Amino acid sequence: MTTGKFILSVLITLTTVTIVAEGQTIIKRDPLIYDMVKQISSEKIEEHILTLVDFHTRHNLSEQDHPTRGIGASWNWTKEEFESYIPLSGGRLTVEFDEYTTGGPRQRLPEEVNLKNVIATLHGTNPDDDRIILILAHLDSRAARGLDAESFAPGANDNGSGMAAILEMARIMAPHEFSATIKFVALSGEEQGLLGARHLAARAKEEEWNIIAVLNNDMIGNSSSCGTLLNDNTRVRVFSEGVPAYETQEMASLRRYTSGENDGRARQLARYIKEVGERYVDQLDVTLIFRNDRFGRGGDHTPFAQQGFTAIRISEFNENYDRTHQIVREVDGIQFGDLPEGVDYEYVRKNTGINLATVANLALAPYEPVGAGISMAGLNNSTTIRWEAPSEGVRPAGYYILMRETYMPLWQRKIFVTGTEVTLPYSKDNYFFAVQAVSEDGHESLPVFPGRLRR
Ligand SMILES: [Zn+2]
Repeated sequence: MTTGKFILSVLITLTTVTIVAEGQTIIKRDPLIYDMVKQISSEKIEEHILTLVDFHTRHNLSEQDHPTRGIGASWNWTKEEFESYIPLSGGRLTVEFDEYTTGGPRQRLPEEVNLKNVIATLHGTNPDDDRIILILAHLDSRAARGLDAESFAPGANDNGSGMAAILEMARIMAPHEFSATIKFVALSGEEQGLLGARHLAARAKEEEWNIIAVLNNDMIGNSSSCGTLLNDNTRVRVFSEGVPAYETQEMASLRRYTSGENDGRARQLARYIKEVGERYVDQLDVTLIFRNDRFGRGGDHTPFAQQGFTAIRISEFNENYDRTHQIVREVDGIQFGDLPEGVDYEYVRKNTGINLATVANLALAPYEPVGAGISMAGLNNSTTIRWEAPSEGVRPAGYYILMRETYMPLWQRKIFVTGTEVTLPYSKDNYFFAVQAVSEDGHESLPVFPGRLRR
């Protein structure tokens, strides 16, 4: 390599890793949310994971009536654990089984079985707010063979980590009042085709739940990779779909008209998690993965996306396949199987923090602005955006206009305005915009990507 080439390659390397100075970001934390995030305990998380591992297996075809083994014992324990937080909530937390029948000949679960999800609902305190936020984690586990309901299947990371996160969030959030309703959901049926999620997503659609966000936590506790031997508990992935799984003709034509393929609702939620999560949790970068899920694999947020809800998946940055869906064993000094020793509890604590901060901020926020659109009246180099104030929920104190260049993945500017119309001296051809409502104390709604206004 010549010196010139060497310097060039060093420069390229430097520019890809150096943060470009663009002026500092303002971090303003709500003391209530910050305090809740600080209460998340890695010891409690470890306790929950060890309890879940003790059920031996949580396979969907395992025993349902044994007191200490199998999936039945694990959903009973989950329900009791949620119920122990009811006194903290002054009765605003309610807990229920959500039962369904699934499986049958020629299906992934080849026999018909009755399974249960566990739902803990922290009811919103604002009668003028019917919004619901869902936080999911699957309770079931498996070993190597899909239908092996007998072998030890600890599922410490997959998905004891996600389960510990939702339990810990419910405990800490229960004493506090939120405008919107929050549902903490422990799902069964994941490992044989997202069965519990399919059932609940269909039920939510049928019953017309006003779900504004679904956060699915699946494997959030492993911080080192097999094969590439990376070790990092400072990055977590948020997966979000681009072109939505659920899209009507009208939605598709608006997407093409606005070039909105990178601005679907799931992607707005993903960017929101990055902004709000990093606002409250130190030493954690939220890395947005612009895919619905890992390559060729699935998760419980997908049935919700397919029903038209705004749904994303949160997952560790590095996976360890020696520990996922394996028979517990040691070969040549390498430990296989999803054991607690493979879980980084400090990492789970931080990942729980981004969930809690996001859900709290959203549940305290106003409804989204209504009918936002960009004016198409006349050709000019400015952009006029109009919207209406939401008629329900917390009253907005104002709105943020978000903007970024069209090739940028994240919002670059956030401009506070009052009123419901703004004209900015930036061309609508060269920038993307969005609008979010913000309360007096700074809680933002999800951003709305504007459509077109003919006026
Ligand atoms: Zn899983």
